[in-house]
This record gives sequence, C-alpha cells and structure tokens, in this order.
Amino acid sequence: MKEACGVVGIVAAGRDVSYLCYDALYALQHRGQESAGMATFTNHQITVVKDNGLVSHVFAETALRALSGSLVIGHTRYSTSGSANWTAAQPVYRSAGASGFALAHNGNLTNTPALAEAAGLSVTSMLSDSDLVAELLGRDVEAGASLPEALANVLVRAEGAFSMVILEADAVHAVRDPHGFRPLCLGRLGTADAPEGWVVASESPALDVVGAAFVREILPGEMVTLTSAGVTTRQLLAPAAGAEKLCIFEFVYFARPDTYLMGHQVHTTRRRMGERLALQAPVEADLVMGVPDSGVPAAEGYAKASGIPFGYGLVKNRYIGRTFIAPTQNQRTAGVRRKLNPLRENIAGQRLVVVDDSIVRGTTTRALVGMLRDAGAAEVHLRISSPPFTWPCFFGIDTPTRDDLLAANHSIGEMTEYIGCDSLEFITLENLREAIGLVDECCDACLTGRYPAPTPVAIGRASRW
Ligand code: SF4
Repeated sequence: MKEACGVVGIVAAGRDVSYLCYDALYALQHRGQESAGMATFTNHQITVVKDNGLVSHVFAETALRALSGSLVIGHTRYSTSGSANWTAAQPVYRSAGASGFALAHNGNLTNTPALAEAAGLSVTSMLSDSDLVAELLGRDVEAGASLPEALANVLVRAEGAFSMVILEADAVHAVRDPHGFRPLCLGRLGTADAPEGWVVASESPALDVVGAAFVREILPGEMVTLTSAGVTTRQLLAPAAGAEKLCIFEFVYFARPDTYLMGHQVHTTRRRMGERLALQAPVEADLVMGVPDSGVPAAEGYAKASGIPFGYGLVKNRYIGRTFIAPTQNQRTAGVRRKLNPLRENIAGQRLVVVDDSIVRGTTTRALVGMLRDAGAAEVHLRISSPPFTWPCFFGIDTPTRDDLLAANHSIGEMTEYIGCDSLEFITLENLREAIGLVDECCDACLTGRYPAPTPVAIGRASRW
C-alpha cells in the first residue's frame, strides 16, 4: 500500500510562509514522495513551484525566497489517480477570475468519469481527479461565482475522499469531504489572545514543526477559510449520514506515530493493537520484534502484554525513495533487502514473534520471512496489527485489485505456507477498534467490504481510472 498525499495551507501576515510551508511539508513527506509543490499569492499573482521528487529536492533556497507573500498552500503527492508525470504534480493552477486560484488535494474521487461527462469533458483529457475539480471550479468562477460558491456547487456533486486546500488572492480555504476519509486539522500561530496566523495540515506534527498550536480537526463537510483577519467556518456540504469515516489505516499504518487523530495519539493506539494481539494470539517465543516503522510500537505492546522480551531484529534504510519500480517477484525481494537488513546476532537461534501492520500481496512479507530465516531465526511467528486486507480501497490509497490481495483468495493456512512462517494471526476488527478507541467512526471497507460511499467500478476490477 502506498500513502495518500499531504496538504498544508498557511496564512500569516509578515511571516515567511513559504519557509513555514516547507517545514510542514517536510513533516508530511511520508504521505507522498512522488512530487511536491507550493503556491503563494504575491504581487497580484499566484506563483506555483512544483516538481517530481522529495520536498528537499523540489525546493532550493532560491525557490523558497521567490515564493514570497503571506498566503501559501503546499502538497506532497503519491498518485492514486491520474498520471504520475510532473505535470500532474500539485498544486493545480487555474487562471479563472481576477487572480486565479490553486488547489491541492488528498484523497480520491470515485465518480470522476461521471463528473467529467456531465461537464462535457473527456476524463482522459484531465491529468487527475484534482485537475477535473480545478477545471469545474474555474468554469464557475469564470461565470461569475466566488470561489466559495464554486466550491459549494462543484463539491456537492463530488463523491469519494477529499481533504483539499485552495488558495486565492486573499484567502486559503480548506474543505473536507462529508465522510471525513482523510484527516485535516487546524492550528494557530501565536497565542489565543493574539493570533499571528493560521495553519491547516493533514496531520498535527505539521503544526508542531511550525510552532502552531493544535486547535481542532476540520469536520466532515466543513469549509474553513483562513484570511489575515482570522478564521471563518461554514458547513459547505451536509455530513454523510451516520458517523465520521476516517480511514482506519491512518491509525494502523499511514499517519505518523506522533499524530493525533480524533483525540488519539497514533503511537499509543499502535501499542494497544500489539497488546490486544498478544492476548488474542499468544505464542511461546524468545523475542518480539517489529517491522519498521509502524510495526515497532505494536511489537512493543505485544512484548509488554506477553512478557516476552522486545528487541530489534531489522534495520531500516531511511534513504530509499520511490525511485525503484519493482514489477517482478525477484525485484520485489531485492527491494525488501534494499530497505531492511537483519540484525543477525539478535535473530540467530531465536524463536521470533514478528509484528507487522498489514499483508497486501504477501510478496514482501514472504521475502522478509525468508530473510529472517537466512539470518538464522529458529521460528518466525507473524502477528499482524490489521485484519486480513480483502477488498480494494477507492478512497485515496493505492491498492491492488481483489485478485491480487492475498487474504481475499487464500485461507490462513494457505497464507502461512506461502509466506513460509511458522504461524500467522491477524488482529480481529473488534480488537483493532478497541485498541484505537473508536467503534463506528472509521472506514474499514478494505477489511469488511462495507463501503461507506459508492464505489466507482465493479468490486474486483481496477481501482484506478
Ligand atoms: S477502504 Fe481501507 S484504506 Fe481505504 S479509506 Fe477505507 S479503511 Fe482506509
């Protein structure tokens, strides 16, 4: 699985907002390493800088200096929709109206072809679903609508996942879809009595890094507008019936451990997942280890609840970008070895409990188990801190079709044999929900097949358009 995207919006008069945005994007790098971009408004025009690559590659000091002004939006991207070419990097710019606007999007629309068709557009002429939204907004603005009016008119017809930031001459707008699939939070620069600016970001550590205090999460369907005069809010779209549906994998895997989501620190929830796994699926072993990064807190929790010592068995190379394309099994195995290397002296002769966050195709898990056995592990007992992944995601996460999801097509016994481990257990959905501390407020469609919003194509077919 690949991360979604990260978005940032900042308004702060008298501050170098592009530098603040850089730091915030850097804190969201894990949400997308394919491309990065920023848009500012200054001297009566919007300036966009974007390119393929990591945040640190795209923004040299000269680029940041050129991005002056007091309003900025930013984006880190992994393409779940449309082209991975640099032209599809975000923010997306449109010259509509007096000053134009720029838009950055985390999520995936599920009715893109229908939206395009209704507007007389060919979906293949659009770079991405975000490009289509910008096009539709631009048409409304050209026809005389304000940007907030255009957002209300266009987004009410959009289905699926969107946490968006939109920049215009004097404001940054932040909108979250009616289900709240992807996170989005609001922060304040300065004190409550004397605010110096406002920040919206996908995850709370992006607020921390720029010195902004967490204020609250943006509500499903809400639009928050940041200006030099302060923050205004309106319920742009009616929230979907029932509870909020934040992606459950934000807790399991995507979000940073220091992120707070719905009042819960992600690291703490991951530790509790491990504790519950230990009670649910005990085993006799010598050492509990986690697969870096998100498997580590869950392994700590497993060790604490089981009494089996926790230790490190794998070292992760943190400097592997998304340069390598790994289409074949041999190349995927090599990819695992590039990223993870075993600590042989910790592993040799040991009965291991290995805690990982998920199994999707199973190919990397199989390579990982082979690597641990080659390093001398006596036994490998896999414990997974999410239930079996059996349905594709249509809401902003890049997953294979059902045919390629290991758990959708194989029993636990068959998976154990294929992966080559001694035992395999997945946390139950009930235990996962209890570990997070939320019951109905998370989307779990890829685990249950119960999609909270319409899906774009027959289940089992491609999840990308
Ligand atoms: S289907 Fe799965 S990955 Fe997609 S939003 Fe729902 S919980 Fe997250």
